[in-house]
Amino acid sequence: MSQEPVRTLYINGEWRSANGSGSFAVTDPSTTEIIGYASDGGRAETEEAIIAAQAALGPWSSTTAYERAAVLSKAHALLRERHEELAQLLSQEQGKPIRAARTEVTYAGDFLSWFAEEAKRIGGVTIPSARADQRFITMRQPVGVVAAITPWNYPISMITRKLAPALAAGCTAVLKPAAQTPLLAAATIRLFEDAGVPAGVLNMITSQRAAEVGDTLVESPIVRKLTFTGSTAIGKMLAAKAATTLKRVSVELGGHAPFIVMPDADPVRAAKGAALVKFLNTGQACISPNRIYVHRSLYETFLATLEQRVGALKVGKGTTEGVGIGPLIDNRATEKMESQVGDAREKGARVVIGGRRIAVDGLDGENFYAPTVLADVTPEMLISSEETFGPIAAVAPFDDEDEVIRLANDTEYGLAAYLYTNDLSTAIRVTERLKFGMVGVNDINPTSAAAPFGGVKASGLGREGGYEGIDEYLDTKLVGIAV
Ligand code: NAP
Repeated sequence: MSQEPVRTLYINGEWRSANGSGSFAVTDPSTTEIIGYASDGGRAETEEAIIAAQAALGPWSSTTAYERAAVLSKAHALLRERHEELAQLLSQEQGKPIRAARTEVTYAGDFLSWFAEEAKRIGGVTIPSARADQRFITMRQPVGVVAAITPWNYPISMITRKLAPALAAGCTAVLKPAAQTPLLAAATIRLFEDAGVPAGVLNMITSQRAAEVGDTLVESPIVRKLTFTGSTAIGKMLAAKAATTLKRVSVELGGHAPFIVMPDADPVRAAKGAALVKFLNTGQACISPNRIYVHRSLYETFLATLEQRVGALKVGKGTTEGVGIGPLIDNRATEKMESQVGDAREKGARVVIGGRRIAVDGLDGENFYAPTVLADVTPEMLISSEETFGPIAAVAPFDDEDEVIRLANDTEYGLAAYLYTNDLSTAIRVTERLKFGMVGVNDINPTSAAAPFGGVKASGLGREGGYEGIDEYLDTKLVGIAV
């Protein structure tokens, strides 16, 4: 326990300790050293936060879209001013290489500016009636109090991707960030506070008692909307609980992306793309390719280029400039890498490079795993169905289009897919048959604040970003008028 009072709960415009001052340690995943403490909020504090959000709803939803847009724009300006300190904290608390941390902070800011603009475009429609004496119009109104639960892997952008549209729509919110990244969450809430978001509009409960806080949020009849990003197992459970009070629900969940290299593609370019997107955030991304299918005619060239690119990746502490691969979030994640590689080896996969824990920079190496390429991966291997969430590229050859589409779609998930081809017809034909929410065609980053992000099947419900992103926080009211 820290000697300093820890105040990372933000309720009704005040930074507070948990009742009883309970707190928990936050560690740097590179060194496993303690870098700070966060307040351990529970049911009582969450209930207070919900009441504060309810009380603030009337006044906030009565502000004009232009007023709300101005506050979000101010939060964006503050994020730009504090960009480097936010990136450093992100890199230290989550382990992400500093360059990627800077990119994520920018991406987080994009949601503030995008939804500041979208606030002004919330509008209804007029609908012709069959009756001469009747008119129909629709109004779009905020859903009410929002519960937002976010993961550690993109610890700032997942917060702004939810809170910016919620506030733009006129909702109020209670945020529960991941237990591994509460310090950056507090720095993010400070952006909104300093931008002039009124007391009660945004509240945050940091906690290491996720189930207690989560249940309080989803069981509350006051909360009208749940927005969750995290694992499929937890998302399904929370969505089921939210159904008892019939809340609006959007859940952004796990993925198991296929990455397909068709016979007409450039195997060197495709392998360079695979090396970039697979190892982004040390593979801890929901859109990370989990199965790489390469046409047999290109297989060896692709593998040789991938091996060379992966071999050149610099592993180290995220805050060290030039590092491309940081630590995994914790030892459990590293054990998962060992289990997937062990299973694949036993079932006949070839380890092209990596395949083991490593110690770097004099650090004990508990959370470091060498960037790895596995070849000759088959569907029976664990890695072909279980989300890896780490730096392992699993590669397999294929022979024809129908076969690779069947393999690609053979997953419970449906978030992102990637396709490399130089043939326009193939690009359209294969894209249409892939059962995923997002497809990158010769493109490894099909994401933007301006574009709808989300999946199908076990990857979730709803879309974030784009013009759809604000719809998740709005109800449509029909008004019939007799004239
Ligand atoms: P997680 O374990 O499901 O946690 C996500 C959030 O849920 C955290 O805040 C966590 O709190 C909270 N939580 C855990 N158990 C809970 C419970 N019983 N009730 C209420 N809340 C609970 O997922 P994660 O390991 O942090 O994140 C990785 C997963 O997120 C991967 O599957 C990844 O694919 C997915 N993801 C999806 C997207 C997308 O947009 N589709 C984006 C990023 C990540 P604690 O931290 O306190 O446990």
